[in-house]
Amino acid sequence: MTEINLFETVKGHICQCAYDLRLAPDVEAILKTPMREFNFSIPVRMDTGRIRTFQAFRVQYNDARGPTKGGIRFHPDETIDTIRGLAALMAWKCALFSLPLGGAKGGIVCNPKVLSEGELERLSRGYIMGVSRIIGPHTDIPAPDVYTGPKVMAWMMDEYSRIVGRTTFGVITGKPLSVGGSEGRDDATARGGWYVVAEAAEDAGIDLRGATVAVQGFGNVGTHAAVLGQYLAGVRVVAVSDSKGGVLNRNGLEVRRLEEHKERTGSVRDFPGAENITNEELLALDVDILIPAALENTITAENAPQVRAKIVAEFANGPVTTDAEAVLKEKGIVIVPDILCNAGGAVVSYYEMVQNLSMDHWNAAEVDRRLKTMMTSTYHAVHETAQKKNFTLRQAAYTIAVRNVVEAMVARGWV
Ligand code: NAD
Repeated sequence: MTEINLFETVKGHICQCAYDLRLAPDVEAILKTPMREFNFSIPVRMDTGRIRTFQAFRVQYNDARGPTKGGIRFHPDETIDTIRGLAALMAWKCALFSLPLGGAKGGIVCNPKVLSEGELERLSRGYIMGVSRIIGPHTDIPAPDVYTGPKVMAWMMDEYSRIVGRTTFGVITGKPLSVGGSEGRDDATARGGWYVVAEAAEDAGIDLRGATVAVQGFGNVGTHAAVLGQYLAGVRVVAVSDSKGGVLNRNGLEVRRLEEHKERTGSVRDFPGAENITNEELLALDVDILIPAALENTITAENAPQVRAKIVAEFANGPVTTDAEAVLKEKGIVIVPDILCNAGGAVVSYYEMVQNLSMDHWNAAEVDRRLKTMMTSTYHAVHETAQKKNFTLRQAAYTIAVRNVVEAMVARGWV
C-alpha cells in the first residue's frame, strides 16, 4: 500500500479550490508552498545520564493574514510532510473564521508514552530553546495538539519567558488557567465541533436527540466529543476507541466511567458491560454520526466502502483521504470538514491570545457565547455557499478560506 501523505491531500484540496475560484497559477503555487520551515534537533539528557537527540520541526505556512498559529505534536511517526499539511490546514482554518492569524504547526519525533516526566519537561523546554528566535506573541504562537496539553504548554511558556527575560503568557495558548489560560480552552475543539454538527444534522434532517455516535480516538478531542455529545446534544455514544482498540455498547456507553477506566487501565478496552471491537469495526458501525478524533488518514479507500454513518464529522485533522472522500460522497455521506468542524480549539486559542494581550480574563459563559456564535455563523456561511454553488462543505469552506488568504496577499502587494 502506498503511504498516504497529508500534505499531498491538502495540496489536492488547494488544486480543487484554485479551479473553483479561478485562481492564477502563480497564486496557486504560493498557496501550495510553506513560507518558512525550521528543522532542528534537540539534545536531551535522559534519566540514565545519556544524551539522546530528537528531531523536531516548525513550519510557518502562510502569514498573509497575521502572525502564524498552530499546535505542537509529540508523535513517533511525525514527518515534515504531516506538519506541512497540518500547518496549511491551520492557515485555512484561521482564514475561514476570519481570525487575524496565519497558520503554523510543529512537532517532535518522539514517543511521549515512554518518557519520564523529567525527560518530557527537558524535551519541551529544548523545543522552545530551538524555536525561540522564530516564535513570539506577535510572530508565531504555538498551542497543544496530539500528545501535548496544558502541562507541556506551561513549561514551554516558562522556557520562552526565561529566554526573553520577562513573563510572556501570550507566546503560547492552551495553558493552565493559573498561567494565563482561557476558560473553555480544554474542551473548545469538541464543543465547537458539536455546535457545527448540530447545524449540519438539522440540515441533513437528523434529530440529534438519541442519535447514535461512534468516536475514534479518546484523547483530548475524542473524550470531550463523547462527553459533550451527550450533554450538549443528547446523542447516544455507542462506541469509542483509542490506539489499542475500541468498545461498543449499543445502549450507550457511560462515558464518564469509561474515562476513569481508561485513566486506570491505560485503554478503553475491557470496559465492563461493553464489547471489545477493533478500530476498523468502529469505523464500519451503523451509526448516525461517525467522529474521527484520532489522527490523519484513518478513513481510506480501503475502509470507506464499509462506512455506514450518515455524517462523518472531522474532529481530527485530515482523517479522510481524497480517495475515501470520493467513496463517501458517492454513498451520500455528509462530511463536515476539519477546517470547519474542529476550529473551536483555534478560535478559543485566539480568545486566549486576546485575553493575554489585553491582560483580561473572560468567564466561561462569555467564552462559550462567543464560540457558539462564531461556529454557528461560519457553518451557515459555508452551507450557504455549498448550496449556491453545488459544492461539498469542504469545497465551500476552502473557497471562503482561501479567498480570504488571497485577498490579504493582494492587499499586501504579494501577488
Ligand atoms: P490526543 O493525543 O489527546 O489524543 C489522540 C487519541 O487518538 C488518543 O486517545 C490515542 O490513543 C488515539 N489514537 C491514536 N492512534 C489511533 C488509532 N490508530 N486509532 C484510534 N485511536 C488512535 O490528541 P488530540 O489533541 O485529541 O487530537 C486528536 C485530533 O484532533 C488530531 O488530528 C489533532 O490534530 C486534532 N485537533 C486537536 C486540537 C486540540 O486542541 N487538541 C484542535 C484541533 C484539532
